[in-house]
Amino acid sequence: MKKLVILGAGESGAGTAVLALKQGYEVFVSDMGAIKPQYKQLMEAHHVPFEENGHTEALILDATEVVKSPGIPNDAPLIRKLVEKGVPILSEIEFAGRYTNAQFVCITGSNGKTTTTSLIYDIFCRAGYNVGLAGNIGKSLALQVAEDDKQWYVVELSSFQLDNMYDFRAHIAVLMNITPDHMDRYDFCFQNYVDAKMRITRNQRPDDAFIYWQGDPVIMKEVEKLAASTFPKEALMPFTATTPLPVPDAELSLKGVHNRLNATAATLAARKAGISDEVIAESLRQFAGVEHRLQFVCEKNGIRFINDSKATNVNSCFYALGAMTMPTLLILGGKDKGNDYSEIDELVQQKCHTLVYMGLHNEKLHEHFDGMQGCDGKPLNIIDTNNLADCVRLSYDAALQWNKHAGADKSSECQSTVLLSPCCASFDLFSSYEDRGNQFMQAVRNL
Ligand code: ADP
Repeated sequence: MKKLVILGAGESGAGTAVLALKQGYEVFVSDMGAIKPQYKQLMEAHHVPFEENGHTEALILDATEVVKSPGIPNDAPLIRKLVEKGVPILSEIEFAGRYTNAQFVCITGSNGKTTTTSLIYDIFCRAGYNVGLAGNIGKSLALQVAEDDKQWYVVELSSFQLDNMYDFRAHIAVLMNITPDHMDRYDFCFQNYVDAKMRITRNQRPDDAFIYWQGDPVIMKEVEKLAASTFPKEALMPFTATTPLPVPDAELSLKGVHNRLNATAATLAARKAGISDEVIAESLRQFAGVEHRLQFVCEKNGIRFINDSKATNVNSCFYALGAMTMPTLLILGGKDKGNDYSEIDELVQQKCHTLVYMGLHNEKLHEHFDGMQGCDGKPLNIIDTNNLADCVRLSYDAALQWNKHAGADKSSECQSTVLLSPCCASFDLFSSYEDRGNQFMQAVRNL
């Protein structure tokens, strides 16, 4: 009997265990940490043997195959030992893909994955397709395949999932962009990360589609390589910032240049799946967006508050600033992943009057931005904070002050925006970007 060991008992691991048992594998699940109650319950209900707070190496090294949670790095000692022994290591998506005849729409990129995935899923649902949402969002693909298999899956794929995919085939693959991220997991070699993203095109056939943004130089270099390979050229489906959409730009529910790109990728994917422009247009007009991505919170005394807590790298903040139409107070800071802030210098100068730093270590931000000129021609107003309560209160006061002075200059009421788009991970002060966004929205509503 084939022995499947599953490392990590989260959404994907617990779901994989259920599917593997159903497929006749001998299954063992092992987690280095504590397993969440809901996943324990799921495994207990299916009589899956598991351990937590440590790995029994002998049992794991005896596996025929291993399914690894995307959170476990490839250089973890146990993973190295498995590789040395020649045990195949798969991702949940690779494993589940073996046991369904569904068609897959897979979305990857450094930024815009969740928004584009959610938009495509919304279009498929409106079209009445039998569709599941999986990957980084939604329910585990493996569990859906085991218990409620669908005809279509819309799957958000991170580079970590793609790392362990081999025979899986995306019928429709979407690549939004590639900018540096997660360098610590790729030996600080950008090409390694690029190669992981490009794995989304593996095994594609001539009647499939590879949808990609032509404006990204990194992608275009990789497309040149694809064109010189055996990859089926018929599958190439580029889009640009001006590819026509089934609704006028002004009617798109999601604003900003980046969201137009997301809408374009979603449109091409849906058309390829046979969905009419009428249905696509309805979704593009009505889609409510995803929490923590340029999410409008409320307006108070002429100040609009926007929560973009998911902006955990500089590129996503770049697009957030690009979408701002009013003078802006930008809140940034947190756990820096080796950021180069110069990417947003120009936009900060054009759009911002105040920067509020919120983090345990704001030194790098001070060094980079202090003294820079802001949108009003004066040096940027800089505020330093190390907790959310201070940050929100001081931001509100500073925005009110700015509105008052700018208004006095123009002898009219002035409006401005407070934007949380931190460029950084949240782990110095919060448990996750969701936690950061939720606390921000709560504090803003309590002002
Ligand atoms: P991901 O799932 O890839 O992290 P999200 O859709 O969650 O992407 O968006 C993450 C951040 O990137 C948000 O701050 C959002 O405003 C910004 N963003 C969304 N789409 C794009 C895009 N196409 N290019 C650049 N930034 C984007």
